[in-house]
Amino acid sequence: MRINSSRLQQHFEAMSLIGKIGDTGTNRPAHSPDEKKAFALAASWMEEAGMKTHIDNFGNLIGRLEGKDPLLPVLLMGSHLDSQPYGGRFDGVAGVLCAIEVVKTLTENNIQPARSIEVISFADEEGWRFNKGLYGSKGILGKLDPDDIERKDKDGISRRQALIDFGCDPGMSKEDEYMPGSIFCFLELHIEQGPVLDIGNKPIGVVSGISGPIWWTVKLKGMAGHAGSVPMALRKDALLGAAEITLALNEIATQIPGAPTVGTVGTMNVFPASRNIIAEEVTFTVDLRDIDIKRRNVYEMDLRKRIDAISKKHSLEYIITEDFVSEPRYCASWIKEIIHAECTALNLDAPELMSGPFHDALPMSYACDYGMIFVRCKDGISHNPLEYASYEDLALGAEVLYGTVLQVLQK
Ligand SMILES: [Zn+2]
Repeated sequence: MRINSSRLQQHFEAMSLIGKIGDTGTNRPAHSPDEKKAFALAASWMEEAGMKTHIDNFGNLIGRLEGKDPLLPVLLMGSHLDSQPYGGRFDGVAGVLCAIEVVKTLTENNIQPARSIEVISFADEEGWRFNKGLYGSKGILGKLDPDDIERKDKDGISRRQALIDFGCDPGMSKEDEYMPGSIFCFLELHIEQGPVLDIGNKPIGVVSGISGPIWWTVKLKGMAGHAGSVPMALRKDALLGAAEITLALNEIATQIPGAPTVGTVGTMNVFPASRNIIAEEVTFTVDLRDIDIKRRNVYEMDLRKRIDAISKKHSLEYIITEDFVSEPRYCASWIKEIIHAECTALNLDAPELMSGPFHDALPMSYACDYGMIFVRCKDGISHNPLEYASYEDLALGAEVLYGTVLQVLQK
């Protein structure tokens, strides 16, 4: 191995102490004092690796290794150091620490690339504190909505105030945007957060793209009535309709065995929610994702037809509200080829798989070519203190990232 796996392990262990909960958990909210501590620690390693560091006005930590030609578009890599409130030690952290290790290995080998390299820890990837994520990655690309800065957390603290408390000047953030064409490509290593690699017994995966989610809120309206007296044939039972639609979504998403399509009804609110009243109104969410946009479109139409038919069958009215829709974003094939070649050189049989969850790479995909490396995580558990990736696998991931960076620097 060219990277230093014991140094990498020490960095993970030191980082896991900041915002530590229980034995293996992490709680490091966006723009919080704990994230600031994490940034200071990561910045010290960036500086040891020869990078100049600063925190921009979006709350991103950025380390820069100056290239021989500072005017060339930068090679950007990284992920995030904020965590879920009841999160693990590897989500996001892996992408930042492995990227720092790659730069440290470059400078140890006296390699000064032509183009500059920047390692970034994006602000508020997770999105739970202000109920909207990917703040730093959207920010540097000028893609934030005007009201994003005024969103409040559960304690009533606005993002603007949180950023000021963090030491940022939100009024100056425009200057921290990256001009179109200034980023050569973006590389993100991340734990898979799903079970595919673990089940396949493969330490590393090559990401094909980030699947596009459809998020709906569906409201069904029927008629309340006494559960003991209204005959079955005369009911307008909104919960029965919602249950049938949930099953229909499951049938749609599972019709091709082995396909990466996923469909989920994750919440259901029932009104009036009484054991002896037929449900009058049910509101539930739909999450439908696929890497194949054509197939997703067909499934979406299919689901709309099923909702219509099921509603008619039970004499229900329905409203579908589209909360969020994103198209699948494919990784650049030239970067995927490099990652595959690096895996082959390390005797790794690395399968190609899509990412169901989003990552900072999703907004980055609109600004430049991007590639992602997945590292196996045990049982696919993530956003949970039980999240676990072995140091051996993480070192392999860093090694693949190092080789990938060397190849990308030749382009
Ligand atoms: Zn993450």
